[in-house]
Amino acid sequence: MYLYVLQFQYCLLINLIHKKYRLIIFGDTNAKENEDVRNYTYSNYGTVRLLHADTGEVENLSMEQYLYGVVSAEMPVDFSLEALKAQAVVARTYTVYKMFKGSKHSEADICDKADCCQAWISKENRLAKWDENERESNWQKITTAVNATVGKIVTYNGEPINAFFHSNSGGTTETVANVWGGSNYPYLQSVETSGEDEYTQYASTLTLTKDEVLQKIQETHPEAQIDFNSENAIQILEYTDSGRVKTVQFGNVQISGVEARTIFGLRSAKFSVDIGDTITFNVTGYGHGVGMSQTGADAMAKTGANYEQIINHYYTDVKIENI
Ligand SMILES: [Zn+2]
Repeated sequence: MYLYVLQFQYCLLINLIHKKYRLIIFGDTNAKENEDVRNYTYSNYGTVRLLHADTGEVENLSMEQYLYGVVSAEMPVDFSLEALKAQAVVARTYTVYKMFKGSKHSEADICDKADCCQAWISKENRLAKWDENERESNWQKITTAVNATVGKIVTYNGEPINAFFHSNSGGTTETVANVWGGSNYPYLQSVETSGEDEYTQYASTLTLTKDEVLQKIQETHPEAQIDFNSENAIQILEYTDSGRVKTVQFGNVQISGVEARTIFGLRSAKFSVDIGDTITFNVTGYGHGVGMSQTGADAMAKTGANYEQIINHYYTDVKIENI
């Protein structure tokens, strides 16, 4: 799943770029979209044309049939039912957003690749990965989460939102602009979330030799030089409001925390650096940190929150509406 999360971020970055070009080419289409979303009904939009990227086949599935495969690919089935429901609504919103804003695929609404659109797994393949004695109950839990939220999507000002999510925020979620630049979304504010430290995704470390650190930096910044005897060899210069690294200096090169995350393959941009004989990154959280934290959603559910409360916590001033 966590690979899917990383791939999903990449996909969303592509979407943002795509959207920017749409705005340049077509102008702001908000007025039309507002009108369209009110006409969203299952008779018009309840069938998902799913492209199987490996075979090129397009399969027509009902929205809910499709979402069984998405939710079971994106979130561990042992998470709480309310967290799975939140994931179902977020995944449905993402799907409608894709259909609404335009698919990347000419013959399909969405594909089954996490690094392009949204992760999806067939029931057969999903069941095969579970222990035999848990298959039926696990599948029933997934279908219950999806069926209990039929037709529900997250909207802001009457439009489906760009429903970012990630694995673990490390305590505080992040804004769009701090990850991908550009403008922030009013419904994606930084919010605090508790209980994520109970999950293995919360803390991680990466230790590299000094040579490895320099080599990795030089792959994208060939001019980089680091004097590891200097006190200022590696310095975090600035943090975002959510506590992630905004700017970090490696020798004579300054990069963003997001770029450092990419260069070193860190789980998140929330990190500190220990310099000794080797270099150790102490990382908190997993993923870009924008939108719903999956482990945070599960932690909320375990304290009694329902899926609507979870969604309203992670997305600001939104509504959960039937389409
Ligand atoms: Zn795709």
